[in-house]
Amino acid sequence: MKKKVLNLENLTLLSIVLGIIFGYFFKDLALNLKVIGDIYISLLKMLIIPLVFASIFIAILGLKSSDDLKSIGLKSFIYYLSTTSLAVILGLIVVNIFEPGSNMQLPQDISSDIQPKDVNINDFLLSFIPSNIFYAFANGQILPIIFFAIMFAIATMYIQKDKKETLYNFFDSINDSMMVLAKWIINLTPIGVFFLIAYTIAKNGIEPLINLYSYVLTVLFALFLHAVVTLGAILYFIAKIDPITYFTKIKEALMVSFSTASSSATLPVSIEVAKTNANVDKKVAGFVLPLGATINMDGTALYESIAVMFIANISGVELTFAQQVTIFVTATFASIGAAGIPGAGLIMMTMILESVGLPVEYIALIIAVDRFLDMFRTSINVWGDLIGAKVVDTLVFRKTKI
Ligand code: ASP
Repeated sequence: MKKKVLNLENLTLLSIVLGIIFGYFFKDLALNLKVIGDIYISLLKMLIIPLVFASIFIAILGLKSSDDLKSIGLKSFIYYLSTTSLAVILGLIVVNIFEPGSNMQLPQDISSDIQPKDVNINDFLLSFIPSNIFYAFANGQILPIIFFAIMFAIATMYIQKDKKETLYNFFDSINDSMMVLAKWIINLTPIGVFFLIAYTIAKNGIEPLINLYSYVLTVLFALFLHAVVTLGAILYFIAKIDPITYFTKIKEALMVSFSTASSSATLPVSIEVAKTNANVDKKVAGFVLPLGATINMDGTALYESIAVMFIANISGVELTFAQQVTIFVTATFASIGAAGIPGAGLIMMTMILESVGLPVEYIALIIAVDRFLDMFRTSINVWGDLIGAKVVDTLVFRKTKI
């Protein structure tokens, strides 16, 4: 059978290219039409909370036993933590080799209105637990919502069978309806992507990329290595799947993450491609992807370590090995704490700068290229989540085919 050339994926790719051209040549129009891209993002975001809640709930309740939950939970956490740590280590190695910013001058007027983020461990722990679940729903606090969904599902395992089934069917139906909606919205991707990219190019231009090229190239090179070598090897050796084949199956999600710079907004697409194209078990996808979109951010962690080292280089501060270990720890936690929304990584970076005694306002040095790098690091975040889903699927259900 002949494959349709103008399928959704190719159209989306075409939109990215046309969006770049349009944003560059028709700046004002692209800025004025921003609302179309915003509508697309809002439509995706509209699904996040019901989808996260319902998919985690039914994923856990659908498991045969609490042992399965322990197995999926433990394997996911080991995957998230080890890949994020590897990403930061790789970032630190690459930045130490290339030393971007070491021969640049510190500009005179550095100011930024970004407020430092506190490193208080108590607040960090408390931020997982919703004292009012409706407040968490209304304010889109994903981690507390996930915490509640997990606890709610575990408790439901212990109630009467028929009542348990009622709850399961209810949330399973919500989940199915959300996925039907997701499919409709996904059909709008080429339009949304076109206006989002055009706006980004029109707003930021490409000059900052040229001025900060050493920093930008270092981040892109390290992200590429992590995606291809580290994550590619994990997929290949554990799930026995060729990364290129996997890439072609899930690339729609990567294009959406690239254009929206938001792992959370991409979630409906990630779940859809994982289940439909990559044959990931519904329960695994429903658990690993929503959680991963919030806490597993390899791209963000890697970028943060490089950005902090770049800021140190440009300010002529030599960071010791011990300080780089501090960066390793704080960047890992900062990426876990970062929300899956555009620019979240930049805000969390204030925490890392403070931990090694660098001035927070130096963030102003890299703000100009942040949206551009956000598109790439978010794609690596989503690539990491989707590989995680397949790897956990293989480890738990021994299923290697796609
Ligand atoms: N935009 C990223 C994401 O949604 C987070 C970040 O700013 O690094 O995954």
